[in-house]
Amino acid sequence: MNTPRKRVVVAGGGTAGWLAATALVRQLSGLIDVTLVESEEIGTVGVGESTIPTIRTFHEFIGVQENDFVRATHATFKLGIGFENWDRLGDHYFHPFGSVGRSTFVADFQHFWLEGRKAGFGGDYGDYSLEQQAAMAGRFGASGDNSLGYAYHLDASAYARFLRGVAEGAGARRVEGRIASVEQDGESGDITALVLASGERIEGDLFIDCTGFRGLLIEQTLKTGFEDWSHWLPTDSAFAVQSEATGDPVPYTRAIAHGEGWRWRIPLQHRVGNGIVYDSNFLSDGEARDRLLQSLDGPPLFEPRLLRFTAGMRKRVWNRNCLSLGLASGFVEPLESTSIHLVMVAVTWLIQNFPFGPDNTAVADWFNARSRHEWEHVRDFIVLHYAMTHRDDTAFWRERAAAAIPDSLAARIQLFREAAIAYQSQDDLFRVDSWVAVLIGQGVWPERHHQLPAMLPKPQLQAALNDLRRNIVGAVERMPSHAARLAQIADETREREVL
Ligand SMILES: Cc1cc2nc3c(=O)[nH]c(=O)nc-3n(C[C@H](O)[C@H](O)[C@H](O)COP(=O)(O)OP(=O)(O)OC[C@H]3O[C@@H](n4cnc5c(N)ncnc54)[C@H](O)[C@@H]3O)c2cc1C
Repeated sequence: MNTPRKRVVVAGGGTAGWLAATALVRQLSGLIDVTLVESEEIGTVGVGESTIPTIRTFHEFIGVQENDFVRATHATFKLGIGFENWDRLGDHYFHPFGSVGRSTFVADFQHFWLEGRKAGFGGDYGDYSLEQQAAMAGRFGASGDNSLGYAYHLDASAYARFLRGVAEGAGARRVEGRIASVEQDGESGDITALVLASGERIEGDLFIDCTGFRGLLIEQTLKTGFEDWSHWLPTDSAFAVQSEATGDPVPYTRAIAHGEGWRWRIPLQHRVGNGIVYDSNFLSDGEARDRLLQSLDGPPLFEPRLLRFTAGMRKRVWNRNCLSLGLASGFVEPLESTSIHLVMVAVTWLIQNFPFGPDNTAVADWFNARSRHEWEHVRDFIVLHYAMTHRDDTAFWRERAAAAIPDSLAARIQLFREAAIAYQSQDDLFRVDSWVAVLIGQGVWPERHHQLPAMLPKPQLQAALNDLRRNIVGAVERMPSHAARLAQIADETREREVL
């Protein structure tokens, strides 16, 4: 017997809404109908321009070609994040994508590197990252057998428009209008329809709340509750402004700490995205705005826009027949740019475990547990940057250094301190190399490491480490500049259009 087609209603057309609609129609169009409701009058949050490498897998999943995407969203390539002033004023470290050095089955690379450092020839951890060296040299592209781990910087509004084109082309229906009320079944409490200001009713079986911070369905209607993490991540405000580009875009995001938070700099092909994130208990809005404007390299393109947020997540991201995605489901902090990734993972899990039955309680429970694990892992990684600071120049940083941290993070830090062990469990986003780069960058030095590398004769270890570094230097020299690679993509796209 055929199951009737499920009616999926996506509320909201920001990055989250259009990502969900695109993936759902691309993968399940024979089984479901997808309708997306959005309101131009309300608009989108307009930020969210730095991504992580999982975006490429997701694009493959939904059939998006890299060149089309790069052209449509004025994207640049991102090889990692440069952190300035996080551990101490004036210091600098890099969190690269891709793997660092070469691990063995017995011991991860950091143990070999630490042994090399002990012997005086290890250099910096980042010397063994192709991505970091390419980023510092402003290069990007294929180089022999060396493939790069990379993501993109993108124009958020252009990305939502691009996805909309793909989704509508694949059969998603878009309805313009403001959702005025949400109808629920009197007995079960399930959502039955969205009622628009025009009076139109959009009925559905599964509702996806992508209405941003307001969480119109998941919170305002279903009263799901929010788990507040602001005691661990107290920044609560940001100003965002775009500025004119003044030079070639660098292939990495800059995260520059200031006295009461940090600033981002995200270079696109046609402009630069800038923002300042801060704790409003320590810095006034006026001071934050001025600090941001004074830091710009080029003239601002419009007035800075103020955004307020609270770090945390919904107690259940999936409640009754409603799954929340994007800002409606919560927000950790823009540092490490994980929010769009969390949308992509959740949409992928939804597609892989779509609720076709009349009772989906077990699916929702399982989904919630899995999401919680993922979110808490991301939260811990971000808290690490604040908690392990050695800055004591402002009250904000002194408070961060002294604040309690989640037990799960404390255990990780202790493991690294004691034995240089970092790990990635199933469903964890951040790899061993990422944890090591940030732990070391924040000045967490292990007391001991695995003794296998100490068994190697020192000249052999030194030669192996030198080889790794030499290969990277050679590979970077053979790469085109980032600007040249972007120009090449523009040419390729133009040629295809002419043909
Ligand atoms: C300061 C800051 C910096 C960030 N930086 C990054 C980053 O670098 N990388 C990253 O991955 N993420 C980042 N994020 C998060 C990222 O911006 C979001 O995850 C992403 O944009 C998705 O937003 P959204 O679609 O959930 O919400 P929104 O963009 O707010 O979209 C909400 C949608 O709902 C619609 N809507 C709302 N109410 C109604 C209604 N009543 N009727 C009809 N429609 C309605 C709106 O019109 C809109 O279409 C950042 C967030 C902030 C706050």
